[in-house]
Amino acid sequence: MSDNCLFCKIIAGEIPSTEVYRDEDVFAFEDINPTAPTHTLVIPIKHLQDVTDAEEEDAELLGKLVLAANRIADEKGLGEDGFRYVINTGRHGGQTVFHLHLHIIGGRQMTWPPG
Ligand code: AMP
Ligand code: ZN
Repeated sequence: MSDNCLFCKIIAGEIPSTEVYRDEDVFAFEDINPTAPTHTLVIPIKHLQDVTDAEEEDAELLGKLVLAANRIADEKGLGEDGFRYVINTGRHGGQTVFHLHLHIIGGRQMTWPPG
């Protein structure tokens, strides 16, 4: 838990969220400002500032994050039509909350290149 981290406070239940999934390593909840019919955030319970903060010891955790996201995407019925994972990183990446999070965005046609 990192002080003054919005997502650590959400994990701790200090700030409400719509929980989608929780286990000992991973938490998932609905994005408060969805950009598509499905927009879910999957985060490690361990506070990592962004994906580049991960070290060798976090390799298994990153795998669990993706596997949890895969299950959530499947449960939300995104498997057939596809969807998008996004990990915004740093200022140019458009990151606004500095606790690593994987966006699951789906339910509509995505465009490329992204903005
Ligand atoms: P990023 O721009 O990649 O850092 O994404 C941060 C995401 O967190 C945005 O999509 C926000 O809509 C979302 N967000 C911010 N505050 C909350 C909150 N209290 N509950 C759920 N999602 C949030
Ligand atoms: Zn945090």
